[in-house]
Amino acid sequence: MDVASQIALVTGGGSGLGAATARHLARKGAKVAVVDLDKARAEGVAGEFGGLAVAADVTDRNSVEAAFGIVARELGGAPRIVVNCAGIGNAARIVDRDGNLSLDLFERIIQVNLLGTYIVLSFAARAMAKLDVLNEDGERGVVINTASVAWEDGQIGQTAYAASKGGIASITLPAARELARDGIRVATIAPGLFETGMTAGLRDDIRATLSASVPFPQRLGLPQEYAQLAESIVTNPMINGTVIRLDGAIRLPPR
Ligand code: NAP
Repeated sequence: MDVASQIALVTGGGSGLGAATARHLARKGAKVAVVDLDKARAEGVAGEFGGLAVAADVTDRNSVEAAFGIVARELGGAPRIVVNCAGIGNAARIVDRDGNLSLDLFERIIQVNLLGTYIVLSFAARAMAKLDVLNEDGERGVVINTASVAWEDGQIGQTAYAASKGGIASITLPAARELARDGIRVATIAPGLFETGMTAGLRDDIRATLSASVPFPQRLGLPQEYAQLAESIVTNPMINGTVIRLDGAIRLPPR
């Protein structure tokens, strides 16, 4: 599928990987809806390229349904490109030194990262299935999810995050198999460490250690590099039902 002239919806588009992807798809000619919790932040990004800003909470199905409605009304149809970048990344031990449990955090991270992704995937699949096919393959659209390398190499304190990302990775193949009948592809990007708001708070020494732990290139990834892969997934119809690590060959250590 060509990016040019398609309608794209990017969640978490007000910041980090989502913002870079929204900008990149817009540069390639897509009509982009920037969806984020924070309307002002979504407007800030969408305003750079004349895109549509939509406030929505991915954990709330009514809010997501409304967002798809706004996109259809304002941009002229359902999105053929949906990129799930909304997410949170807090860490906590199962039981801390004082014996406190992290059950609330676990529930919240699953809600935003896993359930939020599934809700957006669900509304995307329903809307895309009603579109005309685009080409002789019978393609209608593509959904790109964001996991994390913690899906496979979760560190101490990352049980909730790893579970949420493992869930996203596990959804990928069965979703691609099911939605194939409608010409909808599903693929997941599992980033290593990227320069975004999520990693901005890292202490300099931790950042330096993390950068040195990436075999090549020895640095954190740039959001634009994530966006480039998202574009490749859109344009290459054989990428389907798979999880792609984008990580400079990093394998996270236990802590
Ligand atoms: P980011 O800069 O914090 O962006 C995430 C965006 O998602 C924020 O704008 C955030 O809004 C939004 N968001 C959070 N909860 C939401 C909700 N319930 N509904 C709608 N939007 C919501 O982080 P990022 O680094 O770009 O992360 C994007 C994705 O990549 C996440 O899924 C993250 O787990 C994954 N990832 C990131 C890295 C990395 O190194 N950066 C590595 C692996 C995976 P608020 O700020 O207003 O909460």
